[in-house]
Amino acid sequence: MTEKTDPILIKGASLLGERTADVLVVDGVVAEIGTPDAAGARVVDADGLVLLPGLVDLHTHLREPGREDAETILTGSRAAAVGGYTAVLAMANTNPVTDTAEAAERVLDLGRQAGLVDVQPVGAVTKGLAGEELAEIGLMARSRAAVRVFSDDGRCVHNARVMRRALEYVKAFGGVVSQHAQDPDLAGPASCCHEGELSGRLGLPGWPGVAEEVIVARDVMLARHTGSRVHVAHASTAGTVEVLRWAKAQGIAVTAEVTPHHLLLTTDLLAGYDPTFKVNPPLRPAEDVEALRGALADGTIDAVATDHAPHARHDKEHAFVDAAFGMLGLETALGVVATVMVESGRMGWGDLARVMSTRPAQIAGLADHGRPLAVGEPAHLTLVDPAAAVVVDRDSSVSLSRNNPWHGRSLSAAVHATLLRGVPTVLEGKLA
Ligand SMILES: [Zn+2]
Repeated sequence: MTEKTDPILIKGASLLGERTADVLVVDGVVAEIGTPDAAGARVVDADGLVLLPGLVDLHTHLREPGREDAETILTGSRAAAVGGYTAVLAMANTNPVTDTAEAAERVLDLGRQAGLVDVQPVGAVTKGLAGEELAEIGLMARSRAAVRVFSDDGRCVHNARVMRRALEYVKAFGGVVSQHAQDPDLAGPASCCHEGELSGRLGLPGWPGVAEEVIVARDVMLARHTGSRVHVAHASTAGTVEVLRWAKAQGIAVTAEVTPHHLLLTTDLLAGYDPTFKVNPPLRPAEDVEALRGALADGTIDAVATDHAPHARHDKEHAFVDAAFGMLGLETALGVVATVMVESGRMGWGDLARVMSTRPAQIAGLADHGRPLAVGEPAHLTLVDPAAAVVVDRDSSVSLSRNNPWHGRSLSAAVHATLLRGVPTVLEGKLA
């Protein structure tokens, strides 16, 4: 499906940081690469900039329907575009929950109306996220929304029988269950941070890394047993990395994502009791952060996903124990990954494209996204200035919320432009 779009010449971009070429985009697709004759095309000067396939986020909370005071599909789409994304998966834990075909189609349609990024709904695994009865998985899969990723995110599918059935069910249409791995019996309702020496000293009730690891270990065995695919959302511990490494070596169909915040922020930040740093899974010690970086670089962890979790002030500005879990992520993800993984020399731009575009699109079954930079491919493109140094200012965010853990931090690299099907959604770092 191609639509008429004005021709755009992206001039002098470095493709994946590897070779310099001009890229001509016509009617939503990459028409020519090299030194095309592009008389009449709008020119985007990309000298010194790196061209990537449009980013894909496996894990976004857009809050609509139900909490439009925190974010809407439109404002979240703006944040995604500014962050260099061309597709996001919208988690199901809205109100009402996305657990029917109608609910999934509504999210899809609101995303299309916003028109800034492809909003692909995630379907709930269980009705109302209650963990008991399977949601309308088949109907959601066969709906116009063609749901392929199912998750009770925010909650863990903790009943092994229910998880087994869900894995068997999604297998029938190439779907995947994305698990928020957290044993509720090991992470009590009052828990608010990582359990360790620091939580003891601060007097904050915590939960241990093993609460995640036991579910990951169980789920990879269920994936093996059912021959189905499981995806580990927001992997956060060194123990989870060990299980993933083992499971992948066995040929089990498991994939995993890590968030930008778990790649950089550590549990020490809790010392100020600032609820901006309250998140689930919690910030972990430096040893875990290092294990996650290594696993992302070597492919044990497949993808970076934001877990963008906007919250209204009145839900976040509380004593640490009472505040809502979650932090913003869409606008800063690329900068964090560039800073931690690329600037440090652990990954190249091609690797960043793999973990932020190609693999997420494959995991989600989004055939049009995460494609190579090649003639004939859909022009979902992100142009990055690798030399930029940006001090994050929460008040310049286009998200409705302000729970931004990166405020005041300097990040390297910045999104210069984003194109969705050949149409600029962002130019010069601003919404087009
Ligand atoms: Zn989660």
